[in-house]
Amino acid sequence: MPEAKDFETVSCPPDLLGPLIDGVAESVIVRDLGGRVLLWNKASESLYGFARDAMLGRHLHDSLEGQHPATLARLERQVLEQGHWEGELTRTTASGEERRIEVRWTVLRDPEGQPASIIEYGRDITRLSDLEVESRQQAHRYRNLFQAMAASFWELDFSEVRKMLGQLFHAGVEDFRAYFAAHPEFIDAAIAATRVVDVNDKTVLLFGAGSREDLVGGTVVPFWPPESRHVYAESLMASVNRLPSLSRETRLSTLDGRMIDALFTVCWPSGHHGRGTVLVGVIDLSDRVAAEQEVRASELRYRSLFQAMSTALFQIDTTRQRELFAGLATRGVEDIAAHLESEPDFLTTYLDAMSIGEVNEAAVRIMGAKDRSELIGQPVSRFWPRSSHPVVRRSLVSSFRRNVAFEQETVNYRLDGTEINTLFTINASPELRARNLVLVGLTDITERVAAQKALRQLQSEFAHASRLSMLGELTASIAHEVNQPLAAITANGAAGARWLSRPQPDLDEVRTIHANMVSDARRAADIIARIRAMASNKAAERQRLPPNQVVEEAVRFLHHELVAHEVDLHLALTSGLPDIEADRVQLQQTVVNLALNAMQEMKRAGCPRPRLDLRTLAVDGELHFAIEDSGPGIPPEHHDRLFQSFFTTKTNGLGIGLSICRTIIEAHGGRIWAENIPSGGARFIFTVPFAK
Ligand code: ADP
Repeated sequence: MPEAKDFETVSCPPDLLGPLIDGVAESVIVRDLGGRVLLWNKASESLYGFARDAMLGRHLHDSLEGQHPATLARLERQVLEQGHWEGELTRTTASGEERRIEVRWTVLRDPEGQPASIIEYGRDITRLSDLEVESRQQAHRYRNLFQAMAASFWELDFSEVRKMLGQLFHAGVEDFRAYFAAHPEFIDAAIAATRVVDVNDKTVLLFGAGSREDLVGGTVVPFWPPESRHVYAESLMASVNRLPSLSRETRLSTLDGRMIDALFTVCWPSGHHGRGTVLVGVIDLSDRVAAEQEVRASELRYRSLFQAMSTALFQIDTTRQRELFAGLATRGVEDIAAHLESEPDFLTTYLDAMSIGEVNEAAVRIMGAKDRSELIGQPVSRFWPRSSHPVVRRSLVSSFRRNVAFEQETVNYRLDGTEINTLFTINASPELRARNLVLVGLTDITERVAAQKALRQLQSEFAHASRLSMLGELTASIAHEVNQPLAAITANGAAGARWLSRPQPDLDEVRTIHANMVSDARRAADIIARIRAMASNKAAERQRLPPNQVVEEAVRFLHHELVAHEVDLHLALTSGLPDIEADRVQLQQTVVNLALNAMQEMKRAGCPRPRLDLRTLAVDGELHFAIEDSGPGIPPEHHDRLFQSFFTTKTNGLGIGLSICRTIIEAHGGRIWAENIPSGGARFIFTVPFAK
């Protein structure tokens, strides 16, 4: 048993010590500096399950398998150094149960002040700490929630306002709503009496305060602009009517003077009633309001643009179209073009699936409608003549492939069934697509088509005129050509007559002369036939032709000019070329035009040894015809304009020759261009595909 002197500092008579410590609900244990138990009270017996006799003299920590993260040896040193330690230990009871024990250790000293023993007060906090941990966690969760919410949270002291409302009630006010409406000063006073108890970080941020402390303890006056007074009045009404909560959109002001659009929610949580506090949540709607305004503004812009565009615009709802496409996808259709081949009816289904949504004024005009209502809701199919279905097919393929844009010239029906030439465009931007819409534009190109037709007409007139004028130039050449066989025929005729008038007529000689005359006459007839073909403005006649033959014949036309200009002509015609499918006269006209131009340029430039090289060759499956001269070449500034109608550098020029050449060549599916030869002179090249 411990000696009384060990407990002097407890300053209690030793005989009372036993009953005293046994009467304490806490476990009290005294151990010597070696850790052996000197005193063990009743509460210790019941806490650890070890009887006092069993424990006295035993090592405390070993017996109870005490544990602490910092190790017990270190704690022992610490308590001796500091005279006191408290904390939590884990110990194991006699029945093997682990307990969490909150202990307070104090060093007991001898009269000399030297440490003699350590007294421990212990408390089982195994259960208690569970509860505590939980409540601590809950508090933490609440704080986190309170802080982490994107919303601004306020805890407001409403008790003063309650009192004010109570006074009103006692003063006989019954209709609070009417009273609030009539007494804005009451609302202002209530606002001034509402104090901030707590706010979260988001509030500090949103309302422009430097820190929480700037807000806590103050009133809500700086945040409630007069324009939002009615919302405060409403929350007072909600309080009077004991509603659990109220939400309103309102405008609040920040400390730095900004106005924010906010969703304001006030609630009277049950736990807060007694405390007279309310919880307020504020969600900043400014961004949303701004975004909505932006959307509205851009919709307005879109709308006014939509209406103001001179192009006819149609909004088409593609919901059904999408369903159709989705249907195809589930059937595994990937190649839409092939699918349309095998199921041509799909095109009609597709057209029928779409109807006109919104339209603009230009659309009303182009379609010949009285007003928009005549068009809205109309099925798209009624505007597509059968002959234009290939365009629909291509647009369908384009849509299926989710192309953003489609454009093609076509013919559409007006409301009254008359036809109109249009440029048909589809815009299926992702933004439109997201709303199941596409925008269709129709431009009336009737006039353009008519103009193009007129131009083509004009060009063919010019071609005719130019052929005739060329005939003028060629007359001499033709006359020469025809003259030559005619002269030969005349000479041969005379010779024949002479041979016949001999006393002994040489019939063999006459036969030869006769044969020559027939072939000369045939040549003359050929030339005349060709002239007739050129002079008559016959529509193009396509036939299979050997390209070299065309060139050789053209050269024959040029014979006279070539001789007159003393041009050195070189033909390099590749033999065995495939046929081309072409209009003989038009192609010859092209060759003649190019050659005449070249000769004129060489003459103009005073070229000493004018030379023309004509070549035919096969390049990439098409005929290439090239004509090279030794003239001045093409000045770079003229290069891009050569083939434009009416571009000429000649005083008497029409500037239509090359433009006609281009029209002819392009009509044959070929191309024509000009380039300069590095060694001097110009080269004109045209291509014509070989016949299949
Ligand atoms: P025109 O012969 O009536 O001027 P074209 O359309 O035939 O009309 O020719 C247009 C212009 O192209 C000519 O005025 C000339 O300036 C230029 N041009 C045509 N061929 C040649 C060439 N071989 N060399 C240089 N310039 C040429």
